[in-house]
Amino acid sequence: MKKARVVKLIGGLYSFKDLKTKEVFEGYARGKLRKIRVEKDSSFNKNVTMSTKKDVKDIVLSPKVGDIVHYEFESDQYMITEVLPRQNELIRPDIANIDQVLLVFSAVSPDFSFNLLDKFLVILGYNVLKPIILVTKIDLIDEESLIKLKESLNYYKPFYDIYYVNSKARVGIDTLDDIFEGKITILAGQTGAGKSTFLNALRPELALKTQEISESLGRGKHTTRHSELFEYGGGYICDTPGFSKVDFEFHDATMIKNYFLDFKKYSDDCKFGYSCQHISEPDCMVKSKVASGDILKSRYESYLNFVDILKTRKEKF
Ligand code: ZN
Repeated sequence: MKKARVVKLIGGLYSFKDLKTKEVFEGYARGKLRKIRVEKDSSFNKNVTMSTKKDVKDIVLSPKVGDIVHYEFESDQYMITEVLPRQNELIRPDIANIDQVLLVFSAVSPDFSFNLLDKFLVILGYNVLKPIILVTKIDLIDEESLIKLKESLNYYKPFYDIYYVNSKARVGIDTLDDIFEGKITILAGQTGAGKSTFLNALRPELALKTQEISESLGRGKHTTRHSELFEYGGGYICDTPGFSKVDFEFHDATMIKNYFLDFKKYSDDCKFGYSCQHISEPDCMVKSKVASGDILKSRYESYLNFVDILKTRKEKF
């Protein structure tokens, strides 16, 4: 059985790279692939809400960029005949088997947003995606503010890797050398944080290619889907538009606390233990750690903000 990784999709045409020979082929997905029967806990069934979840159901399945597929040569063309189970997947951008997400945030202009960072961390946690924090434009911030920013970000270090770069002068770029190997990395983050300048520092063609995709999508030139993985550092990088607007995909405000990893080690000692929401409950260890400064104040503020957003949203339904 020949296996390949899907590396590009434009319209219905796929490019896939054989895992052994490294040859790249173009072809379509075999028609019957489009509908498959899946079990409740199949990786293909993740985006179905609990209320509509049945034990077994038919879903329409198209291979995505990032998928590992079986392919064959039949009737004069290459055909994807099967999609192997996915480790994870996103809808926007439309990619499967993502290993990590590089969260690009600028130190300044626009100012570093801890609220947006925390929001991304919750959303990625929910999607079981590994975040890596990348701070750009460190040359544009004054020294004292950079020290302050780093102090706050040090708080995140036990949970997430953090890198600092000045993309224009390529300062710090080499510290990221090893993170891409054997992995699919997608880029996300703050608007205007300098994603393309960063890609340009990695390899100029990367910035150009992703800019072309984004511009053609922006002009509506491609009405069809276009996703593409670019080879870099022994792995793949993907920067597709669509991940700039992020939103919580769940409505249950009580779930938010599960993705604040820094709260977790204290919540056992809350009077109400796991059921404590760390808001109005008495004898809450999380709240007392916020007061003592062991939990970063902005983390707790983000938490209250997200709970509020989800509660308000629920009332509208
Ligand atoms: Zn608590």
